Amino acid sequence: MNLSKHVSLDINIRDIAMSPTMAINDRVKVLKREGKKIYDFGIGQSPFPVPTPVVDALKLYAQEKDYLPAKGLPALREAVAGFHTIKDNVNVNPDYVLIGPGSKQLMFLLQIAFYGEIVVPTPCWVTYVPQAMILGKKVRLIHTTFEDKWHMTAKALTEFLESEHDLYRPRILVLNYPGNPDGLTYDKDEIKNIADVARKYELILLSDEIYGQLHHKGEHISVARFYPEGTIISSGLSKWCGAGGWRLGTFAFPKDLDWLMDSMASIASETYTSVCSPIQYAAVHAFKGGVSIERYLWHSRRILSVLGGECYKILHDAGIRIYPPEGGFYLFLDFTPFAEHLSKKGIYDSMTLCEQLLHEKGIALIPGVAFERPSTELTARLSYVNFNGTKTLTASEPLDKLPEGFVMQMCEETIEGIKMITDWIK
Ligand code: PMP
Repeated sequence: MNLSKHVSLDINIRDIAMSPTMAINDRVKVLKREGKKIYDFGIGQSPFPVPTPVVDALKLYAQEKDYLPAKGLPALREAVAGFHTIKDNVNVNPDYVLIGPGSKQLMFLLQIAFYGEIVVPTPCWVTYVPQAMILGKKVRLIHTTFEDKWHMTAKALTEFLESEHDLYRPRILVLNYPGNPDGLTYDKDEIKNIADVARKYELILLSDEIYGQLHHKGEHISVARFYPEGTIISSGLSKWCGAGGWRLGTFAFPKDLDWLMDSMASIASETYTSVCSPIQYAAVHAFKGGVSIERYLWHSRRILSVLGGECYKILHDAGIRIYPPEGGFYLFLDFTPFAEHLSKKGIYDSMTLCEQLLHEKGIALIPGVAFERPSTELTARLSYVNFNGTKTLTASEPLDKLPEGFVMQMCEETIEGIKMITDWIK
C-alpha cells in the first residue's frame, strides 16, 4: 500500500483558496440570509459560553493597554505551565511556554522557524498543509484507514520512516487527538508506541491537544508524558474554554527545543508583537482553573458525549461507516457503503457529496478532501454543535444525571439534521 504522498508545492501563493471551513461558513451565512433553513454542521466552534469567571476577569483587565513581551505575559506562561503539569502530568517550565494569537498562528511560526519537513497523518485538521504550502515547505502525508479507526499506528509510522532514504532528516510529526475531523483519540498504549518510534527516529512531535480537555471522559493522555524531550504541546482557549474568537493559543516546549521557541518569538516580535493584553490577563484565570471551571468542563463533556453518542447511533444504524466519538465535537462520516446509490445522483467525490447535501437538504458538512483525504473518498466531517450551548449548559448544571430525551429536547435541531442525512441517503 502506498502510505505516503508528497504534496506538490509548485503553486503560486495567490492560488491558495480560503480555508474550506471558512468558505463553507461564508456560504452558509449567505444561504441563511436568503431565508433557507440550514443545518449548520460545518462550523468547528465550541457551542458553550466562555466561563463566567474568565469573562469577569476580562472585564477587570480591560484597562491593560501596554504591549506585553513577545513570549507572553509571565503570569500566563506560569499558569499554562501549571495547567499542563496538573492536567497532563507533564513537567512544563514556564520559561518554555510561548503565548500566541491562536495556536494556528503559533503553528505557522513553527513552520517558518523549522527548517525540516513536516509529516501529517490524515485525515488531519484543514490548516497544517495549507500553511506549509504558503511557505513553500515540504509536507509528507501518512494516510490512515477507516479500519485502523483513522489512527496512525506505530507500525505505519515505522514503515513510512523506513521507506525513506534519509531516516534521520529533521522532521516534525503532527499529532492531533482528540482529533479534528474524527472526534477520536489514542489510548495509552498506542500513544506510548508512537512516542517510542518518535524517540528512536528523533522526530519532533507537535502534539495538537487543543481538544484535550474535551476528552469525553476527561481522560486525555498527553504524548509528552512518554516523550517529554521531543514533544511540543499545543493548546489554547479556543475549544475547552469556548473562546475561539479571543485568539489565544499556547505552545509548551521541552528544554532542548528552546532555540525553536526563541526563533518563533523573534518572528512574533517582528510581526504581531504580542497577544492582546486584556485577553492574556483573563487567560491566567482560565488556565489556573478552579471549581467553577472544572464544573463547566464536566458539564460540557457530558453534553458532548451524550449528544455525540446519539448522533453516532442514528448515523451508524442507517449504514454510514462511523465510530462513536471520544472527544471534542466532530464525527467523520464515511458514505462508502452508499457509493452505488450516490453515483446515481452523479456523486463520485466528497466535494460533490457536500455540495448536494447543502443544495438539496440545507445540510452543511465539510468534505473529506479538505482534511487531505483522497478526493474520491466519500467522507465528510460533521460538527455537532448547532445547538444553543448556553441554554443546554444551564439546563444540565442542576442535574445529577441527564434524563432520557435530554439532548433530543435541548439539541432538537442537531438531531433533526442528523435524521435528514439518513433520509437523504436512503
Ligand atoms: N488545531 C485544531 C485541530 C483545531 O481544530 C483548531 C481550530 N479549529 C486549531 C488547532 C486552531 O485553534 P486556535 O488557532 O483557535 O487556537
